[in-house]
Amino acid sequence: MRLWGRATAVRRKMLCLWLLLLGFALVTLALSDLFNRDQSLQKPGSPRHPLQRMLSPPDLEVIVDSRDPALELGVDLAPLESLQEDQLLYVPSMQGTKIPQQKKRSYKVLLPGGANRDATVTGPPTHGQMGKAVPLHLTSLERDMELASVEKYGFNEVVSEKMSMHRRLPEARHPDRCLGEQYSESLPSASVVICFHDEAWSTLLRTVHSVLDTAPKEYLQEVLLVDDLSQHGHLKTVLSEYVSHLDGVRLIRSTGRLGVGGCRTLGAARAVGEVLVFMDSHCECQMGWLEPLLERVAQDRTRVVSPIMDVIDWQSFQYNATQWPVRGVFDWRLDFFWESNPQLQDPDPEMSVQPVQSPALGGGVVAIDRHFFQSVGAYDPGMLLWGSEQIELSIRVWSCGGSMEVVPCSRVAHLNRHHLPYRFPDQDLLQRNKIRIADTWMDAYRKIFYRRDTLAHFIRQSESPNITERLQLKRSLGCRNFHWFLTTVFPQLYIPQDRPALSGELYSVGTGSCADYPRGQGLQGGAMRTAPCSGTGSQHCDLNSEGEIRWGPMGALCLDTRGERVVLSPCPAHRPTISTLQWKFIKLSGQLVHQHSQLCLEAVKEGGPLQSLILRQCTHHSRQQWHFEQLVAPKGA
Ligand code: UDP
Ligand code: MN
Repeated sequence: MRLWGRATAVRRKMLCLWLLLLGFALVTLALSDLFNRDQSLQKPGSPRHPLQRMLSPPDLEVIVDSRDPALELGVDLAPLESLQEDQLLYVPSMQGTKIPQQKKRSYKVLLPGGANRDATVTGPPTHGQMGKAVPLHLTSLERDMELASVEKYGFNEVVSEKMSMHRRLPEARHPDRCLGEQYSESLPSASVVICFHDEAWSTLLRTVHSVLDTAPKEYLQEVLLVDDLSQHGHLKTVLSEYVSHLDGVRLIRSTGRLGVGGCRTLGAARAVGEVLVFMDSHCECQMGWLEPLLERVAQDRTRVVSPIMDVIDWQSFQYNATQWPVRGVFDWRLDFFWESNPQLQDPDPEMSVQPVQSPALGGGVVAIDRHFFQSVGAYDPGMLLWGSEQIELSIRVWSCGGSMEVVPCSRVAHLNRHHLPYRFPDQDLLQRNKIRIADTWMDAYRKIFYRRDTLAHFIRQSESPNITERLQLKRSLGCRNFHWFLTTVFPQLYIPQDRPALSGELYSVGTGSCADYPRGQGLQGGAMRTAPCSGTGSQHCDLNSEGEIRWGPMGALCLDTRGERVVLSPCPAHRPTISTLQWKFIKLSGQLVHQHSQLCLEAVKEGGPLQSLILRQCTHHSRQQWHFEQLVAPKGA
């Protein structure tokens, strides 16, 4: 008995030991998994061993080597040639196979009304708030979390997280002209390409669901998510797994950081739909947004189109409809903006929702025929990570045989952030991108740009952009010059004269400061003042042969008077100009004489360092002495 009892005790001990060992092994495994995952979170740029990936292959996910020369699309590339499978680093094909149950991890599903819980994604879409902000009564902890999320993303992610993934936007389309519209039955198929770099989970997935909820299945070929080397943990395995549950959504990951244009070119090379729809990773679509875009592209394959871009507020996530008519423009500093201009409105109600031709389109949502995109040279591969790539595409499309327009019956809302969430390695990256545009596309007109962006000018003086291939492309496509673009496509853009000694910073001898227009007063104009001379080109103005003093990077505001105050107001569209806007510069005395009143421009102290600009009886006081300082030599860059 005792022997038998001892044997049992030994066996029990052995069993305990085994269990202990097993437990130890499991803990070690879990820890090493965690460690590996952490490592890949911390150093996403470091090469990962393929085997490590093989251990838990993500579904429908493709890793693409972005250094592949095949991505450097040039004119030589056959328009529809796409990457071969063997050019990819790794293609796990899990299509048709099920993920083992134990591997299924739960992730957050955002429920309408703000009640979040962890679950796997199932069930039909639910309708959340109708585009309304979530009313919040915040504790200080919640307030801190909101502030931290604004800092991290440039928008209030805490509010975004509480909103439905499937919220339906309030109707903003023209009730008669858009809602009853019939579209042709055989529209081309679309690939919606969504590039993202460290996008928040809620905004990225709301974008994807919004496309899936609004685009008709028969036209939506696929949603192609392209990860531009994101580092945030939630965009790794959890995202792959989430996407693997969504019908018609594919995920591509780039092994190098490509930037907006490069990432879109990569997506385009992998897309199979006839029309590419590039969409930012923080958008929400109105019902019926896709069909009118496809129709316009189907009618003319060289037509590049955009919906009206409505606005999602970065703080409240409130949806704001943009007023029609609107078109995309850019100024002489090569900055893009949407211009809402009632003068573009056709008085005929039949025509009131006709697409409006647009000198440029924003990057938020652009639809373009896939063949045309490739043949016109995709995005410029020489552009750095972010900025002005949409202006480059716009000038190129127009100059090389295409056109651009905003389609009013299509509306997509874009999240306008408070600030950019990225930190770029190159501080002057935007200037470098603009230099490429100026030197490739603007011919002699580039001088006007360099005078208004002196940082770009000085960079350009010490280094030349490598644009040989783009110039070759321009030649081989037989593209028109910038003069044609200005006169035919964008005749509303004022062409500055920039005459020596009559343009530049308007320097006040008496105060040692420069005429300035405080930012934030808008396009309609407001009071002028003086401020420290910036030297950047932001205070550039141009006294033209009409006698107008044109201000701002568009040259659309004129030095005007309101009583004795000197203000800016919109310049007249037609010549001759209004007599109250005319000035004469007397070089000898430095006086600037307002022609209508024969009074002189004077800088008047108002307490503090700033002075306002006032009209006074002409004297020879130094406060009435001015000269135009050209920051960039008259010959330009
Ligand atoms: N993006 C990217 N790589 C980058 C920077 C941006 O893929 O290096 C993505 C970004 O996530 C977004 C799109 O490109 O979906 C456009 O960028 P962003 O929204 O920052 O441009 P904005 O709307 O501010 O002009
Ligand atoms: Mn954006």
